[in-house]
Amino acid sequence: QLANIGVIGMAVMGSNLARNLAHRGHRVAVYNRTTSKTDAVIAEHGSEGDFRPAAELADFVASLERPRRIIIMVKAGAGTDATIDALIPLLEEGDIVVDGGNAFFEDTRRREEKLRGHGLHFVGAGISGGEVGALEGPSIMPGGSPESYEALGPILESIAAQVDGEPCCTYIGTDGAGHFVKMVHNGIEYADMQFIGEAFELLKALGLSHDEMADVFATWNTGDLDSYLIEITSEVLRKRDPNTGAPLVEVIVDAAGMKGTGTWTVQSALNLGTPVNSIAESVFARAISSAPELRAAAQKALQGPDGAINVADRDLFIDQIRQALWASKVVAYAQGLDEIRMAGLEYGWDINVGEVAKIWRGGCIIRAKLLERIRSEYAANQLVTLLEAPSVASGLADAQDAWREVVAVAVRAGVPVPGFSSALAHYDQARAPRLNAALTQGLRDYFGAHTYKRVDREGSFHINWSTDGAEVDGTDTH
Ligand code: NDP
Repeated sequence: QLANIGVIGMAVMGSNLARNLAHRGHRVAVYNRTTSKTDAVIAEHGSEGDFRPAAELADFVASLERPRRIIIMVKAGAGTDATIDALIPLLEEGDIVVDGGNAFFEDTRRREEKLRGHGLHFVGAGISGGEVGALEGPSIMPGGSPESYEALGPILESIAAQVDGEPCCTYIGTDGAGHFVKMVHNGIEYADMQFIGEAFELLKALGLSHDEMADVFATWNTGDLDSYLIEITSEVLRKRDPNTGAPLVEVIVDAAGMKGTGTWTVQSALNLGTPVNSIAESVFARAISSAPELRAAAQKALQGPDGAINVADRDLFIDQIRQALWASKVVAYAQGLDEIRMAGLEYGWDINVGEVAKIWRGGCIIRAKLLERIRSEYAANQLVTLLEAPSVASGLADAQDAWREVVAVAVRAGVPVPGFSSALAHYDQARAPRLNAALTQGLRDYFGAHTYKRVDREGSFHINWSTDGAEVDGTDTH
């Protein structure tokens, strides 16, 4: 009997995914450009299931039943293109090529079109959960033709994380939809981590020890903030440096790294014109952390409060931080889901946003209790944005006094909270009956004759600013 699924790429992600497939009873063909890696995986894990290792790509392809289902897990970018180009001449019409790497969705759209031209299905599948998720059950976001999902979906669903008996894998939409959703997942992950970082800094400014902070996060993890990232924050804060015995976070250099998916999320949002300011602030917060020259120069020149926070009721303020964190998190999720909705309209993906929340409930880095509420709100209501969902709007209303207090105290103390404050600004912008954009339009008409619309009549208008000051029809002006 031929293999029913193949995996190319035996680095950490591909080998763990192949093992996961084998553990679920699949017959897994495996291949890696460098054969010694395949050999090593088989030597160590070959007894865990039905593996079919191949040293040559042609043998790998020949070992698969048709339509062939092949998951590529190689270095994103040139590695993916090289693998695809090597595969194309070996495949036959109807075969399915899955890219499980972290590809940019525009690359996925390009590759899908190219493979479609060869009569092949191309599925861009976002896979979240890191190496442990790949092995034990990731969240999987596949995009491609609906027909390809019929052949592929059951296999992917069998290896995905399960929550309440439902797999964390669902068909997302055509071509780049899956990788787009995975990209936004990562953008939300950036925001989640930024908010946690701000809460950490505020707790520290209050004078809590690292063990006390770890206890606070552990307690928060038993309530509305229950999530993987809050859980591991507690563990990281409690960890002592094996060398010095100091809290580990105090010996780690405060310069955050990034691989680009947060940046992509913001760039794509800018292209779509959809507001994701709290995600953007999270990317920029990493950027300033990793700008040593700028920071050194500014540290010498700039004055301000020393960052200590003194409040009358410490426990009350700690609870207010919890509420600010929860409210900001809701806004970041709303912004990410808004971006997905807008991309769906732009690219014709017909994405079910509630289903996206559903498959993020397990396996992935942003898995959180909040996602169950988001899923059920989208299931029960036709939502333009998550913020209008009844339980979300009332939760934000309850949290907003605390949220404003935390931002105000932080600003006065000189503790930077770009995540909390930008999320709050979004909340206030979104609910405002009038925005200052009216003045912007007036200014644009003044210096560039860009015209404006009126609140009381249809059409576009322009003021003859430099001549008689009269209002004229602006239809032909710009
Ligand atoms: P790496 O990104 O480190 O890539 C190494 C693999 O890519 C090796 O199998 C290597 O083969 C292969 N490769 C590189 N260049 C080429 C090429 N030109 N032609 C053929 N094969 C090539 O592996 P990871 O397992 O870390 O990640 C795989 C994918 O999964 C990436 O797209 C990554 O972004 C994504 N991902 C990773 C996560 C993680 O936590 N690491 C989480 C989610 C997704 P060789 O041995 O011959 O060099």
